[in-house]
Amino acid sequence: MVKQTIQIFARVKPTVRKQQQGIYSIDEDEKLTPSLEIILPRDLADGFVNNKRESYKFKFQRIFDQDAKQEAIFENIAKPVAESVLAGYNGTIFAYGQTSSGKTFTITGGAERYSDRGIIPRTLSYIFEQLQKDSSKIYTTHISYLEIYNECGYDLLDPRHEASTLEDLSKVTVLEDPDQNIHLKNLSLHQATTEEEALNLLFLGDTNRMIAETPMNQASTRSHCIFTIHLSSKEPGSATVRRAKLHLVDLAGSERVAKTGVGGQLLTEAKYINLSLHYLEQVIVALSEKHRSHIPYRNSMMTSVLRDSLGGNCMTTMIATLSLEKRNIDESISTCRFAQRVALIRNEAVLNEEIDPRLMILCLQKEIQELKDELALVTGEQRTEALTEAELLQLEKLITSFLEDQDPESKLEVGADMRKIHHCFHYLKKLLTDKKIHGPSRAPSSEVKDQVNQGPSTEEEYKKLREILQQRDNEINILVNMLKKEKKKAQDALHSSSMDRGEPRRSQSSPFPPGNPEGLRTLPLSAPTQAQDSSVIQYRSSLLHRKTGVREEMSLGRQEAFEIFKRDHADSVTIEDNKQILKQRFSEAKALGESINEARSKIGRLKEEITQRHVQQVALGISENTTVPSAPDPMEEKLRSQLEEEKTRYKTMFTRLKALKVEIEHLQLLMDKAKVKLQKEFDAWWAEEATSLQVNSPPVNLFNHVKPFPQTPESQHKRSQLLSNQSDVYTRKILPSPGPLLHSQEQSSTGTRLEDSIAKRPVSSVPLTGDSQTDSDILAFIKARQSILQRTGKCPFPQKVASETPRQAKGVAGPGAPTLLGKAPVPSPQEGGWPRCP
Ligand code: ADP
Ligand code: MG
Repeated sequence: MVKQTIQIFARVKPTVRKQQQGIYSIDEDEKLTPSLEIILPRDLADGFVNNKRESYKFKFQRIFDQDAKQEAIFENIAKPVAESVLAGYNGTIFAYGQTSSGKTFTITGGAERYSDRGIIPRTLSYIFEQLQKDSSKIYTTHISYLEIYNECGYDLLDPRHEASTLEDLSKVTVLEDPDQNIHLKNLSLHQATTEEEALNLLFLGDTNRMIAETPMNQASTRSHCIFTIHLSSKEPGSATVRRAKLHLVDLAGSERVAKTGVGGQLLTEAKYINLSLHYLEQVIVALSEKHRSHIPYRNSMMTSVLRDSLGGNCMTTMIATLSLEKRNIDESISTCRFAQRVALIRNEAVLNEEIDPRLMILCLQKEIQELKDELALVTGEQRTEALTEAELLQLEKLITSFLEDQDPESKLEVGADMRKIHHCFHYLKKLLTDKKIHGPSRAPSSEVKDQVNQGPSTEEEYKKLREILQQRDNEINILVNMLKKEKKKAQDALHSSSMDRGEPRRSQSSPFPPGNPEGLRTLPLSAPTQAQDSSVIQYRSSLLHRKTGVREEMSLGRQEAFEIFKRDHADSVTIEDNKQILKQRFSEAKALGESINEARSKIGRLKEEITQRHVQQVALGISENTTVPSAPDPMEEKLRSQLEEEKTRYKTMFTRLKALKVEIEHLQLLMDKAKVKLQKEFDAWWAEEATSLQVNSPPVNLFNHVKPFPQTPESQHKRSQLLSNQSDVYTRKILPSPGPLLHSQEQSSTGTRLEDSIAKRPVSSVPLTGDSQTDSDILAFIKARQSILQRTGKCPFPQKVASETPRQAKGVAGPGAPTLLGKAPVPSPQEGGWPRCP
């Protein structure tokens, strides 16, 4: 930034008459600052009377006397400004003075001699000379030529019109943008690549100005002319452009209206001219005063156009042209006073650098192309802006297989291509978002989603399955122990019961009153409770209990009834089947889990081997001072194929394990559901039964009212198979039979078989459900039953024998009737119907 006041120079026009020389004198003070002293003549020859002072002194930067040549004017005034313009600063040189004081001569030059060339042609010449000398920058020169007359702007270089009057030329208007920058609309800019072109433009403008001038408008006197050289420069390859303007201003005559001595139209014009200069003066005064915030630039077109030149971003120079004749003394003093004020104005010129967006775009495009070329050279392939469809597809396949890969060490490798990396992230984000929206439980809309769900839960599921397996192992062990103990106890009980047969018997029909089916509650429960102690079993037990809500409250007798009800229930076959399948699946899952573990460790080993092999090969290459052989190592290849095989195996097994888990879960749910249903039906049956027992007496009649248990042909068949295998039988009926009364013999047979199937079977042959609660119920029943048998030798269960006579029902066993602990032949299923029991 260059801070400096407006430079003021004075130029005195040569006078014809020698006697005028005594009017002024040019001196220099001790600081070598020149001053112009205007001495007032004593005579009143021109009517100017001064009684107060004899002389006025005005200081100037430099004063050019009458003999000053155009060359000197240029060298001392214009050249420094031109240089700063070439450096990128704005510059203005304006000539101010009364009409015929030599403004035009100074700015443009005389028309007669080449040596009379003024500042404009010399500056153009100088600038183009400098431009040619400097090849480090690219310069562009444009020329505009504006005339302001009566507050109207005219484009003196209007290419469309040949001016015969000023009004023929394009009118130029002043526009101001939000940043208060001035724009001249319709002012044409003409590029001048050489001095000649620029001079041609100057002459074109001067000609237009001359033609347009009429005696009426006296444009040359009453208008302001601004010849502007627009210079832009930039270094090759740079987007930074320096722009500078040089205004060369030929102002209108500064003489006052009063002195024009004209009337009518001319007077109006003179007012305008003076008004325009008046506003210029106002601006100058405002600028020269400190703390003035408002500068009235907008008052006139001229001050608007020269805004930057006055108190702005410009290095400005004023040339006060003086025609120091006796008659012009007042105007000369006025001009000098004006110059003194102007000299107070401080301008701040800055370098006008800006980044040309077009150039910037071009530079960036060039750089991009260069980088692309470089990249293509390195990668060996041309890179486009976006990935192709095929590339996108390939990437998505890669992502999918990456997600499917159960190997936690698998990698997603897309190469050092940011476009691909970004696409992967976008794709994964999309998958994640979709998953969040649809939820993990829903069926995913695509395979990939499913794979996303699989990935993270793999380890978890596997762990869970292993835990379940462990639980089942524990459960089975406990139950086996229990069964062993129970078997032993049952054998002991059988043995002791046969010993205790002489003990007084209680009523055979029922040891408890019908209204007290829960009577067995008082009996000591000697059933093993180890199973219940197991937390694992308790877990499922409580789970089921939460669903049924009653199991733990059951009395022993009721439990016994429930077990029979359950076993003979139509659903029992399904439950049993499911139990078997479940057991199979568990053991399969267990084996699969072990195999998966093996496969996993094998994969780890293979990987390690491959790495080792690779390292060995490289080390071998280094030791032999050869590069790594380009041919693949067969050993490594073999290991890799093994690895792939193992991975495939791993995946297959894992998929199977996953499917197993689903199946197991499903079976467990099915069984739970069936158990709940069974419990519910049993409760209903039990309640009905209990009510019937209370209402009806003797008990023999009750049996006819008992509803049959639901049964299926399968259950009947299964039972027949089971019972046909039994060697020892009981001779007692314990369950209600169906409505139609059966033949006595049939009843006897079925009763025996049933009894046998329930209580007399060796404990080891009792089918276990695999469910702790159910199995413990079974065991509890057996235990309780055997305990009762030991003590009473009677059935602790409400007996229902459809064909029993009242006597029989009261405990007296008739011939052929079932007797407790007695033996009866085992009928085949064909021999008679099954009792309709649950
Ligand atoms: P202005 O433009 O201020 O009205 P001009 O530049 O037209 O005045 O000058 C009026 C006349 O004086 C012109 O004929 C011009 O040639 C002549 N003149 C002005 N200054 C000089 C000078 N320094 N040397 C010689 N002739 C001059
Ligand atoms: Mg002139």
